[in-house]
Parts: sequence; C-alpha cells; structure tokens
Amino acid sequence: MPAPEISFENTEKAFNAKGSSELKRSLWLFKLMGNPGLVKVFSKLTLFAIKIGLPIKAPIKATIFKQFCGGESIEESKEVVAKLGRSHIGSILDYSVEGKEREEDFYKTKDEVLKIIKTAKDNPAIPYTSLKLTGISRFDLLEKMNLKQILNAEEEKDYQNVRGRLVEICYYAAQSNVPIYFDAEESWIQEAIDTLSEEMMELNNKKSAIVLTTLQMYRWDRIDYLKKLIQKARDKKFFIGIKLVRGAYIERENIRAAEMGYKSPIQSTKENTDRDFDKAVDICLENIDVVTLCAGTHNEASTMHLIDKMKELKIANDDVRVYFSQLYGMSDHITYNLADAGYNVTKYLPYGPVNSVIPYLIRRAEENTGIAGQMGRELKLIIEEKNRRHNSKLLPAGK
Ligand SMILES: Cc1cc2nc3c(=O)[nH]c(=O)nc-3n(C[C@H](O)[C@H](O)[C@H](O)COP(=O)(O)OP(=O)(O)OC[C@H]3O[C@@H](n4cnc5c(N)ncnc54)[C@H](O)[C@@H]3O)c2cc1C
Repeated sequence: MPAPEISFENTEKAFNAKGSSELKRSLWLFKLMGNPGLVKVFSKLTLFAIKIGLPIKAPIKATIFKQFCGGESIEESKEVVAKLGRSHIGSILDYSVEGKEREEDFYKTKDEVLKIIKTAKDNPAIPYTSLKLTGISRFDLLEKMNLKQILNAEEEKDYQNVRGRLVEICYYAAQSNVPIYFDAEESWIQEAIDTLSEEMMELNNKKSAIVLTTLQMYRWDRIDYLKKLIQKARDKKFFIGIKLVRGAYIERENIRAAEMGYKSPIQSTKENTDRDFDKAVDICLENIDVVTLCAGTHNEASTMHLIDKMKELKIANDDVRVYFSQLYGMSDHITYNLADAGYNVTKYLPYGPVNSVIPYLIRRAEENTGIAGQMGRELKLIIEEKNRRHNSKLLPAGK
C-alpha cells in the first residue's frame, strides 16, 4: 500500500496533544529563546546560580525543563511516555546527566541505563534507548585513546572498566531486544567512540541492529566513513545501526580547530552538510539489507527526502529498519504528522535531576536562537495553531 500523503503544515494534528496552557508556555518560551542576548545571559546566570547554590530548581523545572525533558527520573517521565505512546510516538529515554568525572558516577549511569532497558523491555512505547559514552567514561581518557597515546597502568584499568560497563549494557540490551543508540560527541573523542561502537556492533548485531552508532553529517569525512562501515559489516557479516544527525557542537569544533591551527572537521557550508545528510540517507536505504537507519533531524526537507527515497525503493512506511526521530519539545509538526501517516517515529526524551540536565537545556536554548530558519518556523507554527484555535472558538476570545 502506498504511504499516505504527508504535510508538515497541519498544525491541528501537530499540536493535538497540547492543551491551551501548554501551547501558551511553548509560545512564551520559543519567543524568549529567539533572543540571543537573553539566552547568553540565561546560560551564564544559570550556571553561576548552580555554582553558588541558589534555589533555581523550581522555576527551571516549571518552564524550560518541562518543555524539553520528561522528568527527573524514569518514573516521573512515564506520564510523557504514555502520552506520546497514545499518538503512536515512541520515546527514547535519555539519561542526560553530563560532565561527571568520577568512577562511582559512571557506575551509577551504567545502572541507570540498565534500568531504562528493563523498563523498555516491557513497554512497546519505548522502542530504543540511548547512551552518551562520556556518561560512562572520563572525557580525557577518551581523548587519550583518540590520540592513540599509551595509557599508564591506572588509565588502562579505567579503560577496561569503561569497556566492561559498555559490554554489560550492550549484552543486556541484546538479551532484552532493546536496541541502543550511542550518541556522537566532539571530534577529538569521536574516533575512540567509533572504535568502541564498531566493536559492540560486531559483537551484538549478528541477527539485527542492537547497537547503533551516530554519524554527524556536519563533518566532511562521514560519507567515506559510512561507506567503509557498510563494507566492514558486509565482510564480517554483522548488521549496522546508523543514526544520522547534522551535529550539535559546531561552534566548539570550529573554535578549537582555529585555536589549535588544524583543518576544521566541519563542512565549509550548511549546504554541504545538508547535501551529505541526504546522501547518507540514500546510501543507508540502498544498503537496507544490512543497515537500520534513524534520521535524527528537525529538517523538513531532509525528512521529505527520506520519505521520497523510501517510496522510490518501495520500502514500507512502517518498515522496522527505518525510524525518524526528533527531540522532545521540538518539531511536533514533523513528529505528529509522521506518526499520523504511519511512519516509525520517536522522540528523544531526556530526563535527570534538574541541575544535571542544565548543559543539555542550554544547548537546546542556543540551538533555538542559532538556526533562525527552522526555529523561526517552529514559532510561526505555534502562533498559527493558537490563531486556529482562537478562530474555531476553542480558546475564549482575547486569550
Ligand atoms: C533524535 C536526535 C538525536 C540527536 N543526537 C545527536 C548526537 O548524538 N550527537 C550530536 O552531535 N547531535 C545530535 N542531535 C542534534 C543534531 O545534531 C542537530 O544539532 C539538530 O538536530 C539540528 O539539526 P537538524 O538536522 O535538525 O537541521 P537544521 O536545523 O537544518 O540544521 C542545523 C544544523 O546544521 C549544521 N550547520 C549549521 N550551520 C552550518 C554551517 N555554516 N556549516 C556546516 N554545518 C552547519 C549544524 O549541525 C546545525 O546543528 C540529535 C538530534 C536529534 C533530533
């Protein structure tokens, strides 16, 4: 059966699950985040307030945290998971605690990820889970591995602990049949992450893609990497899982490259990033016999490109090897319209103690000021829906 036509303009479907007060909160927040000066001040003040122990948790939790996070724990996030599930949208619970450096924190994160897998195992509304490698490893250790430097005895022990935690997580994911995405991070630790991802894919993906890696298409070397990975999977007979994203660390990548005087790993233009994203989609779908694909994007053109390519290659809209995904709190017009048309779609749903998810929230706020085109569009759609409701008398006049 051909996939039904899809439009991202339908704001009624897009915001159907949002009550009027929720819609108003989103409108207010996106308007505030549209102001780059304000976002800069907010980021600095929030980090400072946490450092000196000011009680800012309650206002943050009621506003920006509520927009972009499920809750402070798995339990607290269950309501959002169920709500998304009712609209046929899966949740990817993402324990978003960042910047930890102690072994005991890494074991805590490992245990938390095992808990997510256990929860997902019995809940079809949680089809995948995810992991940031820096959640279970020191950043500087990955950096050293990336540089292929010799580790001293203590570092070697720490690295074996990282590997041990990873093996345990992947083994449990495979036993529970809950696939897991490894997020992509800064380029100066990414090769270390790639090495571990490939090893875990080879180990666990004999029957299907249980471990999925992430490719940032703002890097000019990723098409080559993708082709080599597919060849390796074919040669060694395992499946690969690929989450395609554009990449979240563009500023720090370019600044570091300029400061240290090496060629930036980032594409020279946004157009090149867009071109490679769509090219990678094509390559993945043309190799769907060994690749499971997730398009992690808020870009409408790329989403449409994937839909068109699926049609061209006669891949069913609900084929389990193709997923679309957006971040919770963003681009509902894409997520809900995709779900309505029968595509597999998920939301990345971060959760964790308010103070610990602040770096994630700051990235979201910055992103919403940065990409004027797409996010201006988000604000425009919310306003359109508010007006539509007003006109159809769902909201009392004047509200
Ligand atoms: C489900 C999901 C999972 C994600 N996981 C990760 C992850 O693991 N790792 C990660 O790094 N990010 C991740 N992201 C964030 C992602 O990388 C993007 O920052 C974000 O989605 C915005 O890109 P977009 O595809 O939605 O499209 P758009 O809004 O069209 O593109 C914006 C992106 O284009 C790129 N770009 C902007 N200007 C330029 C320029 N001048 N030159 C070159 N490139 C440019 C940047 O990557 C920027 O973020 C994830 C996003 C989603 C939705």
